[in-house]
Amino acid sequence: MKDDLRTLLRSLPSMDVLLAQPWVPTFERSLGRDAVKSAFADVIGELRRDIRKGSSVDVNVASIEVEARHRLAPFLKTRLRNVVNATGVVVHTNLGRSVLPEDTAQHLCDIAIGYNTLEYDLDEGHRGHRNDLVEWLICQTTGADAALVVNNNAGAILLVLSALAKGKEAIVSRGELVEIGGSFRIPDIMSFSGTKMVEVGTTNRTHLRDFEGAITDETAMLLKVHPSNYRVVGFHSEVPREDLAALAREKDLIFTEDLGSGILVDLAPYGLSGEPTVRQCLMSGVDLITFSGDKLLGGPQIGIIAGRKQLVDRIRNHPLVRALRVDKMGLAALESILRLYLADRWQEIPTLNMLTLSRQSLLERAEHLRDLLEARFNEISFLVTEVGDAVGGGAFPATSLPGFAVTFSAHENIKGDLQKALRMQNPAIIAGAREDRIDLHVRTLLADDDKRIIEALESVIERGGKG
Ligand SMILES: *Cc1c(COP(=O)(O)O)cnc(C)c1O
Repeated sequence: MKDDLRTLLRSLPSMDVLLAQPWVPTFERSLGRDAVKSAFADVIGELRRDIRKGSSVDVNVASIEVEARHRLAPFLKTRLRNVVNATGVVVHTNLGRSVLPEDTAQHLCDIAIGYNTLEYDLDEGHRGHRNDLVEWLICQTTGADAALVVNNNAGAILLVLSALAKGKEAIVSRGELVEIGGSFRIPDIMSFSGTKMVEVGTTNRTHLRDFEGAITDETAMLLKVHPSNYRVVGFHSEVPREDLAALAREKDLIFTEDLGSGILVDLAPYGLSGEPTVRQCLMSGVDLITFSGDKLLGGPQIGIIAGRKQLVDRIRNHPLVRALRVDKMGLAALESILRLYLADRWQEIPTLNMLTLSRQSLLERAEHLRDLLEARFNEISFLVTEVGDAVGGGAFPATSLPGFAVTFSAHENIKGDLQKALRMQNPAIIAGAREDRIDLHVRTLLADDDKRIIEALESVIERGGKG
């Protein structure tokens, strides 16, 4: 038995034999020799352990090299890559939220590949502040007196609480103690900032008197949080912003609102009503608003704090500002996007464009895709169907946007999970599905996506049956 073991261990191929595999040079060119070697070493190491444990193992070069190649293959291509979003969810957090307009992306590239004015004042010839690049634009587009940008909205809230309420109390309605997903919870972020959270009211109803009754000498802030991803319906009431603002003024407290998405233009004419714009919130008397750059603003991942100058000034020099600062690419994209709002060209921003597409143009888009697919795959029947699209990003959670999809069922040539097969293509097609049907929602498709969908389907159908 011991001898058997030794023989087996000795029969394991040497590194030189493994490195002589024909695919190795290609892998080495993109991953380096060390990575290839260590993949082989890992596989051999595991076999050795199995042999010592007495498990029955099949020692042959072919299975070892196939296993090592299988482990390395996912790293040959960049891992962050484009996909086709056929889900109809416009601000899809898992798919990178907002798509940037091409001009914005071009500007971002120009800035990235050269030196720039990130912290340089050309007039004075000395150090400038990166926040100055966008503050005026934020003020113009929101009506705020002052603004500060950080790397995302979670950071913005953390910063506001840390700078203005640390060691003090902030009062928040029980109906708004939200969890956004990705483990962002209002109670956690409050405790992390050193702010004592004082909950008032109940899950479904909170009144002004609840806030009034909770104010003590230790209170620094009234906090309102956008219930991004859910709605309380039925016997429900919340305190109007104007009333909270009046109370905050009377008691000399700061009234902060975490608005989440933060829209800059009123989308009510497009059927998206019930969410106030940042400007409307500020006009209702909110002192400080925080919101995301990559949700309904349609820009890069950024967090914006906008509101009263005297409060923003108190935040500017907090150490977290440095820790949460935005890089040049984020600022380049944000500046470009805000200029589109300023020039009233916001419909060129993909996120806003997708949200405001008319029923007719969605229908035409779906019919066009159906015709292309039918012409190419006459063995499958494609239907234009009505579907519900979503805003996503925790905005308008109760609103289903009427949309259209091209729907088809798994064809007999495609065995197994069609949705997964489409995901395995390059680019991946991320589609909606109902039972055994695939829905290609057209609202979120970009210009060349029809072509990509056809290519993906060609490959899925040709490979039919092989998994
Ligand atoms: C999305 C959201 C956040 C987190 O914003 P990020 O920009 O993703 O950090 C915080 N609060 C609310 C209410 C949100 O909707």
